[in-house]
Amino acid sequence: MMSQSVVKINQFDRAPFNAKDILTWPIIGTFLRWRYSRRAMQAVLLIITGFIIFDGLIGPPQAPKNLATVVTWIHYRGFVVLALLLVGNLFCMACPFMLPREMGRRLGQVLGLQRSVPHVLRSKWLVAALLVIYFFLFELYDLWASPWLTAWIITGYFLTAFAVDTFFRGAAFCKYVCLLGQFNFFSSLSSPTEIKTRNSDTCAACRAKDCIAGNKLTGQRGCELWLFQQNKTGNMDCTFCLDCVYACPHDNIGLIARIPAAELCTDPRRAGIGQFGRRWDLAALVVVLMFAAYLNAFGMITPVYALQQTISTWLNTTREWPNLLIIFIVGFAILPAALLSATGFFSRLLSGQSQEPLGLIIRRFTYALAPMAFGVWLAHYAFHFLTGALTLIPVTQSFLNDSGFNAGQPQWQLGPVVPAGWLFPIQIIFLYLGLFGSLAVGFQIAINHYKVRHIALRAFVPWGILSLLMLAAAIWIMFQPMEMRGTIFGGV
Ligand code: SF4
Ligand code: SF4
Repeated sequence: MMSQSVVKINQFDRAPFNAKDILTWPIIGTFLRWRYSRRAMQAVLLIITGFIIFDGLIGPPQAPKNLATVVTWIHYRGFVVLALLLVGNLFCMACPFMLPREMGRRLGQVLGLQRSVPHVLRSKWLVAALLVIYFFLFELYDLWASPWLTAWIITGYFLTAFAVDTFFRGAAFCKYVCLLGQFNFFSSLSSPTEIKTRNSDTCAACRAKDCIAGNKLTGQRGCELWLFQQNKTGNMDCTFCLDCVYACPHDNIGLIARIPAAELCTDPRRAGIGQFGRRWDLAALVVVLMFAAYLNAFGMITPVYALQQTISTWLNTTREWPNLLIIFIVGFAILPAALLSATGFFSRLLSGQSQEPLGLIIRRFTYALAPMAFGVWLAHYAFHFLTGALTLIPVTQSFLNDSGFNAGQPQWQLGPVVPAGWLFPIQIIFLYLGLFGSLAVGFQIAINHYKVRHIALRAFVPWGILSLLMLAAAIWIMFQPMEMRGTIFGGV
């Protein structure tokens, strides 16, 4: 009896409208609360991805004329960062790679192949290393310029998602392998929404804990990523899959507005993750994505060619990989280690807390730099999106024409969605938003930890200076002529 009434609450008694809770909104909220909404979104993206792969493999080899390169490197990246800025991790919510993952999971269960992820792999070290390798290959093979390689990367991604979840439980692919997922987790630290409980008293009184254990009555699984709602804080590792929402028998979970990046100001013990400040692997992932924001943008401006030429002359080689390797070693290892160590050292010195380990201070404050780095990703990807979004029209026309439909003469002159003069100001707004976030979070971390205002201020100053240096470096990069990759105007 109890269970039936509970199901009734879940299905018919909706939480009242709350402007801060997207799941209570009409139409959008109603759709998202439909248990199969996620599958529907995934299926749509899967079909689009199928066209992308098809065109990438057999379509025109020129990047600006092929769906694979245009959609992947211009539209996907642009939509993802804008969604992360305005809402949250919407790509993971609608992720087409979930379908092969799910197939693998079921196959693994049926064949008895599934096991827990080995303890040694339960961290972000592997995926942080994979990210560095990916960014290296991206530059080395000019992936944005090759429809064929882009199509194979997407295909490989499907196969990897299928294989990993065939053999491992607990959303292993999303949590420990998926590069896109890590980018989304990192960026969603600065997003304005979060999946969280509506009323903590309801959770305290709840016995079933279906949000984590799964709802036996409806067959809805609980959170695969072990984010138990009662102790969940923030967006790290949350795929916005809504499984917890569908499983909770008390309709107690919403998609709720919050202050962006506020989750970085404190460091509680988080369900499924633990404390940020205790995890070097998580800090390493954040550092990789922070410095990748700069290296990825640096790779598209003219000074990088002069630098590569200088290194090549110095090494006496004409091959690209040795000079790229040096740039990556400096960018991903030497520079982060030097900057974070020096900043942590001065932070400790000024705060007078000489007994604190340097590593602890670095881990505590590194997360404060995440909003600034997200601002750089935003400024970079928005540039490509704003200069090339309308390319989708002629590329789709061309694709349809090649597929036997008459879609008219492709309008290759289409591309930018805003006048060229708007680009830099828009990028600057994103960068200043990032700076503001980093300064606010950094100071709040210091206040929360040191309690005494003047000590906190002194501990924060070096991190504030580093944030300003990051802003200056980003403005310098954005000020350089940037390749309009993947567009007709870029001449790729
Ligand atoms: S979120 Fe729902 S299922 Fe989970 S503890 Fe709270 S009330 Fe129970
Ligand atoms: S908490 Fe878990 S189940 Fe809920 S949306 Fe996030 S990843 Fe999905």
